[in-house]
Amino acid sequence: MTQRARTRDVLDQFPAYRPGRSPEDVARELGIDRVVKLASNENPYGPLPGVIEQAVAGATVMNRYPDNGTGLLRETLAARLDVDPASIVTGCGSVGLCQQLVQAVCDAGDAALYGWRSFESYPLFVSVAGARSILVPLRDERYDLDALLDALPAALDDRLRLVFLCNPNNPTGTAVGRAAIERFLDAVPPSVLVVYDEAYREFVRDPEVPDGLDLHRAHPNVAVLRTFSKAYGLAGLRVGYCVAAPEVVEALGKTQVPFAVSTVAQLAAVASLAPEVEQVLAERVADIVTERCRVTEKLRGMGLAVPDSQANFVWLSLGAAAVPFAAACERRGAIVRPFATDGVRVTIGTPEENDVFLGVVEDALAEATG
Ligand SMILES: *Cc1c(COP(=O)(O)O)cnc(C)c1O
Repeated sequence: MTQRARTRDVLDQFPAYRPGRSPEDVARELGIDRVVKLASNENPYGPLPGVIEQAVAGATVMNRYPDNGTGLLRETLAARLDVDPASIVTGCGSVGLCQQLVQAVCDAGDAALYGWRSFESYPLFVSVAGARSILVPLRDERYDLDALLDALPAALDDRLRLVFLCNPNNPTGTAVGRAAIERFLDAVPPSVLVVYDEAYREFVRDPEVPDGLDLHRAHPNVAVLRTFSKAYGLAGLRVGYCVAAPEVVEALGKTQVPFAVSTVAQLAAVASLAPEVEQVLAERVADIVTERCRVTEKLRGMGLAVPDSQANFVWLSLGAAAVPFAAACERRGAIVRPFATDGVRVTIGTPEENDVFLGVVEDALAEATG
């Protein structure tokens, strides 16, 4: 019998992480010039003006550990958001903070409640903490707040400690409005942490979608997650932040990997918040929103049902055709992200990148469903 290190059974229910293929590798394999990657909700535009210079300045001190308390970034955010610095904590992407939040509130056997399908990291983090996920199916591709409300009493009897509200929701792009969220928050006991994950906040155009900071002010048990990865284009640097009650912030400090945010990332994030670049950010986000509308209309024109997205991606509810459709797109030079048996998420890129995708949809569909 071969001897091997034993890993936890709970991990066996999750597929091994398989990194997406790079456009360069796919292009080489297919023998074509151009492959576009619309699979990870990245920003197609580079960092904002002045950001690379600050990142380089940060890199010159890489022999030193960074400021573990990220004082400069937290103070910059505090001033910007009009929030007490004691209510802000930064992390290794907001996904790092997601994991810290679960570890900060869930003991083994506790429960977390959220809509499904939603962000893939939630079930993994909950299971790794030894806690259980209570999943409430989406309705019409969106978070069903009425069903979450109905699920609440039983979940509370079942040691509910945490709720994830992903708004806009990844991977469907749909968002829910203030009234439904307020009704739900009013019913949640203050001892249960509600994580309001608004990674796509900047792309929201529907005025009914609430700002997480307003929810946090009215309900101190709401923790808001935001990131520099999407609108700000710093996905590769891994920096996000959480606005929460000071006790929650303190608990997050205890579940953090030390020095989680590098000096490079901290200085790049601070530079991204400079008032001089705000206009550039707004224009880039507006371009992506314009493209989101164009891509949605084109896809609907091809007979596809595409829910209204408030994020930088759109969702194609293709069921069993999802995986073959994504494979057929990739063979034609467009890398998109399938979610087994549910659908395909397509990131909004530059107009040219989106045209590459739009140009292959009909053939890829025919191949996937034919
Ligand atoms: C992209 C994303 C994040 C976090 O990304 P980071 O790069 O870790 O900051 C968090 N939540 C959702 C729903 C996302 O889609």
